[in-house]
Amino acid sequence: MKPFTYCPLCGKGLNPALLEGRERMLCPECGWVHYRNPLPVAIACTVNPKGEILLIRRAHEPALNEWALPGGFLESGELPEEGCLRELMEETSIEGRVERIIGVYHRESTMYGSLLAVAYAVTASHENIRINHEVFEAGFYPPDAMPEVRIPLHRQIIDEHRRASESASG
Ligand SMILES: [Zn+2]
Repeated sequence: MKPFTYCPLCGKGLNPALLEGRERMLCPECGWVHYRNPLPVAIACTVNPKGEILLIRRAHEPALNEWALPGGFLESGELPEEGCLRELMEETSIEGRVERIIGVYHRESTMYGSLLAVAYAVTASHENIRINHEVFEAGFYPPDAMPEVRIPLHRQIIDEHRRASESASG
């Protein structure tokens, strides 16, 4: 993520300034400050009635070709749960119901900078998968026979979801 060099409001060159104890880029003309905040991401850990987990193989960077959970950036004005179900629908055509939050996570991404990821446990309403251009393939996989998920955050979410599900079922 490259920082702004020019003010997006008035076009003047930005100067570094120490504000609230952090170095931020400040416009000397109009006072605009470049606050750099994490981007919010919603991730869906979706299960079918057999307890199989919906995985996708990513058709775009970052993590091109890696197995992952469906998810993506929240839109402005959207509830995190809505964004989670929207991304799930866009990528796989699966409708679902959010059951609970699995966790909230911080990650540093070389492509996007700081990310704030919210992961939800979702129950699939059906299993008619139709993928979009962001995905090479998708399917429901039993936890003990799924493709290897190598993205650390997604692996962590799946592990935490499994542990919570196991303790809930005794
Ligand atoms: Zn300005």
